[in-house]
Order: sequence, then structure tokens, then C-alpha cells
Amino acid sequence: MIFKESPIESETKREVFVEKLDLEHAKDFVRRIRENVISLEIVDETEPTCSPFALPIVDKIIPHDLLRAAIPSKSLTQIIKERLLTTRVRLVCLYKGDWDGIRVVGELPETVKCPNCRSTLIAATYLGDDGLAKIVKRRIRHQKVSNEEEQAYKRAWLSASLMQTSGKKAAIVMSGRGVGPSTAVRVLRRLHRTEDDFYIDILKAEREYARTRLFWD
Ligand SMILES: [Zn+2]
Repeated sequence: MIFKESPIESETKREVFVEKLDLEHAKDFVRRIRENVISLEIVDETEPTCSPFALPIVDKIIPHDLLRAAIPSKSLTQIIKERLLTTRVRLVCLYKGDWDGIRVVGELPETVKCPNCRSTLIAATYLGDDGLAKIVKRRIRHQKVSNEEEQAYKRAWLSASLMQTSGKKAAIVMSGRGVGPSTAVRVLRRLHRTEDDFYIDILKAEREYARTRLFWD
């Protein structure tokens, strides 16, 4: 520990214990551990690593990737990759509205096609979005849709155009938490030299969402 007994250590302790610590909730937390309401799981890691939950905190207090070298980024991207690839997405055919299916992202083919009409205009949306196919059908029949439905349709259209050009890769990006089609456009537009860069970029987009949602909710 290079910062041991340095001013950085004392300042960090002061900040954590004096400024940041929520004493009431911390006490409650300890009490619940004691009462076995919360169970602790200890992971014995052979490599020096850092929990994905701790990473945003580490990133925030230590600027400019100072600690990044100590954290094997490979295991981090592996964690993100596994999470995204095992996420289930809802796929809706925008061409005819004749397909509404749920698939695991990692099991998708590179190009996603509607099993009914073979169209590649397939929107990837969140699991609970069970209204999209109905909106698509109404649009095709030139029936009236509400403003909200029209917005949902436009989002789906953007999603489908990304799926058409980037295929499975687009589905991976959009399965990130809070990563909608408009954020996905930015991630997909960037050039990623390695697969790690690609997954780290998705993580950044997720963090951006987590950071800003406080203002939107
Ligand atoms: Zn179709």
C-alpha cells in the first residue's frame, strides 16, 4: 500500500468516516448482518482484483486511471461481457409486426432476421415492452397512435436500423442498463481497437445513465 501513513491516507479516512459515512444506515446494516438478515459472501481471489461494485467508487476517488493498472481490466471486461451476453432482449419485427420474440443476446446470429417474413428490420427492446408489436401493427394499418406510442415507435425504428447495420453487436450494446438506441448510436459509431475497449465503452454508457438518472427520475 503505497499511500500508507501518507496525507492521502489520513485525508481519505477523514473523508470516509467524517463526511461520507451514513452512520445510521451503517449501524442498521451491521445489525442486519448480525441478525442474519443479510448474509456475507467472501470470495477468495488469487489475483489482486476489485469487485465490480467497488469499481465506480475507486474510479471516482482516484482520478486518471491511477489504480487501473493494479486492477486487471481483463476480468472486468469479462464480467461485463458475460452479463451482457446472458441478458434477454425482446425482438420485434418492424416491417410487418409479425414477430415478437425473446432471445438471449449471446445466442443471436450475427444478422437477426424475422422468422416469419425474413425482414432484417428488427427492433431490440427491453423485456417488458409488450406493447411495441401492437403499435407496429396499428402503424401498418394506418390506425391512430398516441404521441407516446409514436415516440416508442421512433425509438424502435432507430433500434431496428442499428440492428440492421450492426446486427448482434447492436443488441449487445442495447442490452446495457439504461442504454437505449440513441446512446447505442454513439457507442457503435466509435472505433474500438479491441473487444475490451468495446465492452468498457458500454460500461461507460451505463455509468453515465446511472449518474444522470438521479436527475431524470
Ligand atoms: Zn416480420
